[in-house]
Amino acid sequence: MAKKQFKAESKRLLELMINSIYTQREIFLRELISNASDAIDKLYYKALTDDKLVFNKDDYYIKVKPDKENRTLTVSDTGIGMTKDELENNLGIIAKSGSLAFKQENELKDGHNIIGQFGVGFYSAFMVADKVTVITKAFGGEEAFKWESSGADGYTIVPCEKDAPGTEIILKIKENTEEDKYDEYLEEFRLRAIIKKYSDFIRYPIKMDDQTVNSMVPIWRKNKNELTQEDYDNFYAEKHYGFDKPLKHVHISADGAVVYNAILFIPEHTPFDYYTKEYEKGLELYSNGVLIMNKCPDLLPDYFSFVKGMVDSEDLSLNISREMLQHDRQLSLIAKNIKNKIKSQLQSMLNDEREKYETFYKSFGRQLKYGVYSDFGANKDVLQDLLMFVSSKEKKLVTLDEYVSGMREDQKYIYYAAGESIERIEKLPQTEVVLEKGYEILYFTDDIDEFAVKVLMKYKDKEFKSVSSGDLGFEADGSDSGTDAEEKDKALFEHMKNILSDKVKSVRASKRLKTHPVCLSTDGEVSIEMEKILNALPNSQNIKADKILEINVNHEVFQSLKHAYEHDKDKLQLYTNLLYNQALLIEGLPVQDPVEFTNDICKIMV
Ligand code: ADP
Ligand code: MG
Repeated sequence: MAKKQFKAESKRLLELMINSIYTQREIFLRELISNASDAIDKLYYKALTDDKLVFNKDDYYIKVKPDKENRTLTVSDTGIGMTKDELENNLGIIAKSGSLAFKQENELKDGHNIIGQFGVGFYSAFMVADKVTVITKAFGGEEAFKWESSGADGYTIVPCEKDAPGTEIILKIKENTEEDKYDEYLEEFRLRAIIKKYSDFIRYPIKMDDQTVNSMVPIWRKNKNELTQEDYDNFYAEKHYGFDKPLKHVHISADGAVVYNAILFIPEHTPFDYYTKEYEKGLELYSNGVLIMNKCPDLLPDYFSFVKGMVDSEDLSLNISREMLQHDRQLSLIAKNIKNKIKSQLQSMLNDEREKYETFYKSFGRQLKYGVYSDFGANKDVLQDLLMFVSSKEKKLVTLDEYVSGMREDQKYIYYAAGESIERIEKLPQTEVVLEKGYEILYFTDDIDEFAVKVLMKYKDKEFKSVSSGDLGFEADGSDSGTDAEEKDKALFEHMKNILSDKVKSVRASKRLKTHPVCLSTDGEVSIEMEKILNALPNSQNIKADKILEINVNHEVFQSLKHAYEHDKDKLQLYTNLLYNQALLIEGLPVQDPVEFTNDICKIMV
């Protein structure tokens, strides 16, 4: 009989499983039981929505049976079974192989990540078995089939005998080696412990020797006081919500206007596809204990799309369609409730567990800022107190509230500076005068930051102000000379403006520069950082900030400019172009003609 080959990615995954590390091996049983439970669920769901089918709960169970003599462990169920095609499709390929291809090789070596993130379920059997046999008969089908594989070199499928529908999975447990003991997976007490640990809440009986091992009460129906952190962590892993340990869980038992149970998790790490279009938000939705949707998106606002978990409500109809759900009043009440819970959880994490919150914020803060920006700021009241930015004072994250409380008495605005990185922002000439005044500056390094505060406009009545904006809202100390100079040297500046033509809106004496000779500032709504970001978008419209070239009239360079203006206009042209290009470089903007720029420098050198 010809062996069929696994798809390349399944093969890689299999190899990974075969060489897995010891500590995670026991979860193979969780995976097989979870599949068995899913298979019974499918039959149960069929019965609920089909009058001709009767579901008698006693007929449905999962059995775990070790056989020491033959070194086999059998996990069988009375679920929906698989047809030949299903066997081929479900066990021969990994459904989510696309995401697997996405992973880097080094991450693949760390099997733990894979197991959590992709729910590799079935293949985990190869962590403890050197041969796996699946005997299955689909509900309503005539024939049974046997799938068999000894690992990465392929599998076979042949017809076989089986009376009742369902699936039987037989693991040929590996022989012990010097380092690794596999015998424990043939020990009844050990198997019971694993079932209790990971599969206690499975809704169908898991039987060993005709005794039911699991309590069958779903964790979300249990009393919070009876549950430990480990129970929640195990549930998170069992459900494949993430490969990390959750930062926080929320267990809700609501019996007000709507009755529902929910367990929500705030993950620690950003899922690899989180900030891509591929990421799908949503919570598992149960109607009275029966899973009706894997990812119900309507339960979560986009700005909390990182939340994982489940909701179970008696108030929802089993047969409800996706379209109907969107308009379901109960569901939107639950969604609103959940939104408020998450918000208050985050808020109290921020107040009481600062370090944890900062970990969260590093993973998902960007999403909150998007949330402020999107829908024209409709959600800013929910989100603004959750925002944080790095501040100039201690180079640490601060909230807007902390910033405002620390403002100087004479300070009118919340100042910020935008740039690629903190190191770069710190070197911006524009920050100098603001820092010298003793004002704190928020450093914006995310693309979204400036857009988000443009939508916020104010926080506690204080407006946001870029350190590069035309008017900083205060007179720099000893800057009267600035305004004087403007009058006196008007003609010089006008001449420089003409040299630069429409590259700048004007050239003026700077009120903000202290040690640097030159910088760019902007008038109007679009800043230089925003110009960069907008023009990097796929169908950008070549949006330009209104740039102003600011000259430090107290710098020696200014004397050279004046001298050149009076005696040598060619030289003035050379100097003006050089200063303009320098200002561009400081802002991280490209110099339009680098060859000309370097030639200009050479001209001064000779
Ligand atoms: P997942 O459970 O995430 O879909 P698995 O690798 O655990 O991934 O299982 C792959 C598929 O194989 C399942 O989706 C299901 O269709 C099928 N399957 C596995 N075990 C069983 C079973 N005991 N009964 C019926 N189908 C099963
Ligand atoms: Mg599974």
